[in-house]
Amino acid sequence: MDIKNMLIIGNWKMFPVSFKEARNIIINLNKKISKKGKSEVVVCPPYPYVLPIVTDLKKTRLNLGLQDIHPEPNGAHTGSVSLPMFDSAKVTHVILGHSERRALGENNLFISQKIKSVLKSGITPVLCVGEVLRDEDNTYLKFIETQIRESLSGVPKQAISKVVIAYEPVWAIGKDAKRAATSEEAREMRIFIRKVISDMSNSQVAMHTRVIYGASVDKNNISSFIEAGMQGLLVGRVSLDPVGFSEIINSCDVLK
Ligand code: PEP
Repeated sequence: MDIKNMLIIGNWKMFPVSFKEARNIIINLNKKISKKGKSEVVVCPPYPYVLPIVTDLKKTRLNLGLQDIHPEPNGAHTGSVSLPMFDSAKVTHVILGHSERRALGENNLFISQKIKSVLKSGITPVLCVGEVLRDEDNTYLKFIETQIRESLSGVPKQAISKVVIAYEPVWAIGKDAKRAATSEEAREMRIFIRKVISDMSNSQVAMHTRVIYGASVDKNNISSFIEAGMQGLLVGRVSLDPVGFSEIINSCDVLK
């Protein structure tokens, strides 16, 4: 896989509060980035903005992602939405297993159903994994291995490389986090994730599985994640700021 072709995903979470602001983010971001950069950029707005924002996105190089999805196409699932409902929107990626959804009670087996459903639609699932805390005796590695194994259970071995794995240490996410992961921490985890995938499938599949980093990413620390061999970034808060997000995209676009 070409490391220089970075995947940059903006997770808007439950922001902004109006569609007007959402449009302005897209319009201003588009003005600040080149029309045809080599990195692949995806924005994941809240559901109510997804369909209305398609027209604005079409004028840009930005792709459309979702923050979550129900595995079934329809059914008695109050409050949930399904992939076919966004069919006309040309969704390219779906974030699954984000720690903020896991905190609401989502477990690995439910996430695995979502991954299989998204794969079946030919869309790329982005599986988030990450420890809540780092302990001294490396229990967090076992925790992440279980997240990966259970979330990918039932996914055919050869299809695993179609899933993007986002390493998002929970302790580093959000405005209350003291710091992002260091380059060494990110590198260790990239190697570990590949080893788990290799054990589940084979080294070829592991080599072709994209591993990205998310949690407190900004323009000042992206080089450390690139150095760590991460093949993309999942960006939360900064993805709502056209200046900050464009700086990340522009830096990734000129990677040699
Ligand atoms: C996230 O929650 O996916 C995330 C990356 O958040 P932040 O960048 O705000 O830490």
